[in-house]
Amino acid sequence: MEQVVIIGTGCAGLTAAIYTARANLSPVVLTGTMPGGLLTTTSTVENFPGFPEGIDGFQLMQNLQKQAERFGARIQFGNLESVDFSGKPLKLVIDGETVETRTVIVTTGSSPRAIGLESERLLEKMGVTYCATCDGALPQFRNQPLVVVGGGDSAVEEATYLTRFASKVYLVHRRDTLRASVIMQQRAITHPKIEMVWNSIVTEVLDVAQKKVTGVKLKNIVTGETSTLPCAGLFVAIGHTPNTAVFGGALDVDEGGYIKLYGGTRTNVPGVFAAGDVADHVYRQAVTAAGTGCAAAIEAERFLEANPV
Ligand code: NAP
Repeated sequence: MEQVVIIGTGCAGLTAAIYTARANLSPVVLTGTMPGGLLTTTSTVENFPGFPEGIDGFQLMQNLQKQAERFGARIQFGNLESVDFSGKPLKLVIDGETVETRTVIVTTGSSPRAIGLESERLLEKMGVTYCATCDGALPQFRNQPLVVVGGGDSAVEEATYLTRFASKVYLVHRRDTLRASVIMQQRAITHPKIEMVWNSIVTEVLDVAQKKVTGVKLKNIVTGETSTLPCAGLFVAIGHTPNTAVFGGALDVDEGGYIKLYGGTRTNVPGVFAAGDVADHVYRQAVTAAGTGCAAAIEAERFLEANPV
C-alpha cells in the first residue's frame, strides 16, 4: 500500500512531491494528461519568486520534477479513471489498475474553457486553439492577423506573445475594461500590433467548410452591430474549469466545480487533501499553487502520523 499518491504534476503537485519525498514517504506522483501542468504551456514566468530575469514555464516544471525525484518521488505516467473514498484504504483506479493508498493529494488543476460555439469545436486544431505558447509559432499563423478572446491576464499575455508572429492581433473582449493586471494591460494597450475590440463577442468561427479559420463573426453587445473580422487563428483565453469530474460525488465541490476545503487543504474525506488551482478560484498563481502543495504535504504527513495503520 502507498503512503501518499499525488494526482497531478503542476506546481502544487510537484511541490507536494518534494515535501513528501523529503519526509521519506516515497510518493507516487501521477502525471495525468498534461505532465507539468498548465505552466508548461506558458512562456516566461516573471512572477515566481527567486528568478529575477523570469524563467521559462517548461524549464521551471522540469526543475521541480528533478528536485522531487532527487528525494525519491516516483513520477508515474498515467490517468486517474475513478476513485473509491468510501473506506480505508483509499482506492484509485489508474489506467485500469487499482492502487491503494493511505493519503491522496489532489492537484489536478484546471483546463481552458471554451466559448461553446459549434464552429469553435469543429475548427479546434484547425486554427482554433487554447494555448498561444503551444501553437502561436505554427506556420499557418505567421504574418497573419490573429484574434484573441478574453480580458484577463491569460488573454493579454497570449495577445502580447502572439505579436512575435502575427501581422496584427485583435483582442476581443466582452466589456470595455480589462480584468488583467495593470502592468499586463499597459503592455497590450500600448503595443503597436495589438488592437482592442471592446464590448464584443465571437458568435461564429469561419470557415467550417474550408476546414480552416478564415475569420470570426463578431457582435457588439452594446450596439448590437455585427461584423466579420478576417483572421487566420482564434486563440481562446477566457478562463478555466477545475478538473474535478473524475471524483464524481466523492469530494465536495462548490458551484464552480472547485474542491471545497474544510480548514487548510483538508477535503471532506479524511486523508484526502487538495491544493493548487483545483481548489482555488481566487489567486490561481504558480506560487500560491506551490504554497498550498507544501501545505497539503505537511497535512498528509501529520495525518499519517496521527493515524497509524
Ligand atoms: P480570468 O481572470 O478569469 O479572465 C477570464 C476572462 O475571460 C475575463 O476577462 C472574462 O470576461 C472573459 N470571459 C469569461 N467567459 C467568457 C465568455 N464565455 N465569452 C467571452 N469572454 C469570457 O482568467 P485568466 O485570464 O485565465 O486568468 C486566471 C488567473 O491566472 C488569474 O488569477 C490571473 O491573474 C492568473 N494569470 C496570471 C498571469 C501572470 O501573472 N503572468 C498570466 C495568466 C494568468 P469578464 O472580465 O467580463 O469577466
